[in-house]
Amino acid sequence: MSTYSFPWMTPDLELFRDNIRRFFDSEVIPHEDKWRAQHHPDRAIWRKAGEIGMLCASIPEQYGGGGGDFLHEAVICIEQNRALSNSFSLNVHSGILAHYILRYGTEEQKQRWLPKMASGEMVGAIAMTEPSAGSDLQSIKTTAVRDGGEYVINGGKTFITNGYHADLVCVAVKTDPQGKGRGVSLLMLETRDLKGFRRGRFLEKIGQRGQDTVELFFDDVRVPAENLLGQEEGRGFAQLMEQLPQERLLIAIGAVAVMQRAVQETTDYVRQREAFGKPLIAMQNTRFKLAECKTTATIAQTFVDQCVVQLMAGRLDVQTAAMAKWWTTQMNCQVIDECLQLHGGYGYMLEYPIARMYADSRVGKIYGGSNEIMKEVIARAIERE
Ligand SMILES: Cc1cc2nc3c(=O)[nH]c(=O)nc-3n(C[C@H](O)[C@H](O)[C@H](O)COP(=O)(O)OP(=O)(O)OC[C@H]3O[C@@H](n4cnc5c(N)ncnc54)[C@H](O)[C@@H]3O)c2cc1C
Repeated sequence: MSTYSFPWMTPDLELFRDNIRRFFDSEVIPHEDKWRAQHHPDRAIWRKAGEIGMLCASIPEQYGGGGGDFLHEAVICIEQNRALSNSFSLNVHSGILAHYILRYGTEEQKQRWLPKMASGEMVGAIAMTEPSAGSDLQSIKTTAVRDGGEYVINGGKTFITNGYHADLVCVAVKTDPQGKGRGVSLLMLETRDLKGFRRGRFLEKIGQRGQDTVELFFDDVRVPAENLLGQEEGRGFAQLMEQLPQERLLIAIGAVAVMQRAVQETTDYVRQREAFGKPLIAMQNTRFKLAECKTTATIAQTFVDQCVVQLMAGRLDVQTAAMAKWWTTQMNCQVIDECLQLHGGYGYMLEYPIARMYADSRVGKIYGGSNEIMKEVIARAIERE
């Protein structure tokens, strides 16, 4: 039994965690097989999550949120990853999008969208990536042209998490097609009955198969000009950049939670599986591999918790968050690979959690800013030193 305790945990957060854990155990895990088969969660889960205060937990109560802080999102993220339930992205909905609105939205925008996101009436998504522009976000081609009191949007996005259910999509658009970063703005789309807005097919992914990841298309979509996030055009790139440490830290927190689960699953497995007349755990290679994995998970946990403490103190810088993101997602894949090996052929069977972890975790090195981009961020900071 691990004796590690989170340095930021409080008795109140423990109660909150127990509630969230019960929710995943009873309302989410039993449905994961079905959701994976249909490539999306049932819509009802969003409402249920809203009812127990799991959505927008870190948004002030005056906007319908839970009145908590980043630590509440961290607890939710840990529990979701511990449960290996990644069919609906709470990180995108609450941890990221709600905070864009809170930070940059007008009072009217906050009142209009945050309470509905907190209740689960509205599901949120963020649409930045395009078929021809992922890492190089400044090169997006989706345009929004001002026409009287409206913007007219044309273009398309791909790989959009929560995209099938999303009622509220924050779309990165070019309001100045000639401008690079300074030409980017964030426009909020309320998708219900929105003319010219279309969702594509469910994308066939190697992992996270219950997650609704889709393409979005905009064909002369008209939205009121007041849906511009913040009131100034050309601020989108800076707005996205400013929120990155928190977003990347959430990915790191999730990666460490999965790593811990992988070690636990594997320990249980090698205790009961026998070969050559003895349990696998009695063999030196198994013991040493497990010791290495546990060490890696513990170092990752310690570093990430230090980042959480720094973030709460307002001191987590972009490069340290980038370090946490690339290193934990890389180590997660490494640890899971070793753990899968210790399962033998059963590790390759999807009915075993370690096989799903292997497929689900791979994307951690790609999204949220690829790990190569993270190293660029760190290298640039080194250059400046
Ligand atoms: C399951 C999933 C969910 C996603 N969810 C969302 C979402 O909700 N919203 C959204 O907007 N996007 C989402 N994405 C997109 C994701 O953020 C992008 O895939 C990612 O940013 C990489 O962009 P790309 O795929 O276009 O790869 P590219 O940018 O084409 O990169 C290809 C390779 O080149 C490398 N590379 C690129 N530039 C450099 C450089 N300067 N130096 C060194 N190497 C470089 C990359 O690291 C990568 O290895 C999701 C992706 C996936 C797979």
